[in-house]
Amino acid sequence: MMNITFLGTAAANAFPEAFCRCANCERARALGGPSLRKRSAALINDDLLIDLGPDIMTASFLHGRPLTNVRYCLQTHAHADHFDPSHLLSRSPEYGVVGAPRLHLYASPATAQQAAQLLERDCAPASLFDPEIRERLNLEIHQITPLQSFAVGPYQVLAFPANHDPAVESLLYAVEADGRTVFYGTDTATLLEDTWQAFHRHRLRFDVVILDHTYGPDQRGSDHLSAHQFIEHVARMREEGLLADRARLLATHIAHEGNPAHPELVDWAAQHGYEIAYDGLTV
Ligand SMILES: [Zn+2]
Ligand SMILES: [Zn+2]
Ligand SMILES: [Zn+2]
Repeated sequence: MMNITFLGTAAANAFPEAFCRCANCERARALGGPSLRKRSAALINDDLLIDLGPDIMTASFLHGRPLTNVRYCLQTHAHADHFDPSHLLSRSPEYGVVGAPRLHLYASPATAQQAAQLLERDCAPASLFDPEIRERLNLEIHQITPLQSFAVGPYQVLAFPANHDPAVESLLYAVEADGRTVFYGTDTATLLEDTWQAFHRHRLRFDVVILDHTYGPDQRGSDHLSAHQFIEHVARMREEGLLADRARLLATHIAHEGNPAHPELVDWAAQHGYEIAYDGLTV
């Protein structure tokens, strides 16, 4: 069995936004619990991380999910709410972490390039592409080509180009193991036709769909999906036979603007046939 734990389910500036007094943030503060969202990241089983996000340290101890067995990281892109390069240093022997498994970091060439630049800032003048530095960091870096299936340990992975900032070549991922397939789709606007075609070409059938839900029920999407676009996407998946029986449909990357606190958002989503992920949820 494959399981996936949400380490964070917020958009770029967390929810509640620490500096914000809007009604959604105030309500989330009052309610606590699942209404408190950290920046998006996820953990598959105990060894595959999706995004070295800025809040994974906090998420790890708060939700009782040590990252000590993490061997693989699928990086969606290098935006700051998904990638904190200091984590590459903090898991190294120099920071007192001894015996951690080697980390295989998978990213698009542009994201790998950006990661290298960010790391050089903190680890100057070392380059991530220098084998000696990779040794020091106990790290392998793999640049991946979208729409080509590849093996990541026991997982079969397929990356899709996101409809998001092209400068960092953002990727979405399908991960398959033990006969189960999960689609992790944030950050993105409306999925590209290439992606829909690839779903069919690779005969994918999703048991779990996790999709961008940055904008709420009364908002329009832009470089991210809105609630109504989320609904349109899962409807099309169902129509085209891309969903397994009893597939779980989960919204993530939830912004404080336009999305109510967790219980109200859960009610709205239930009326439209999907679920709202929350930090610490395992499916
Ligand atoms: Zn984001
Ligand atoms: Zn707010
Ligand atoms: Zn982004």
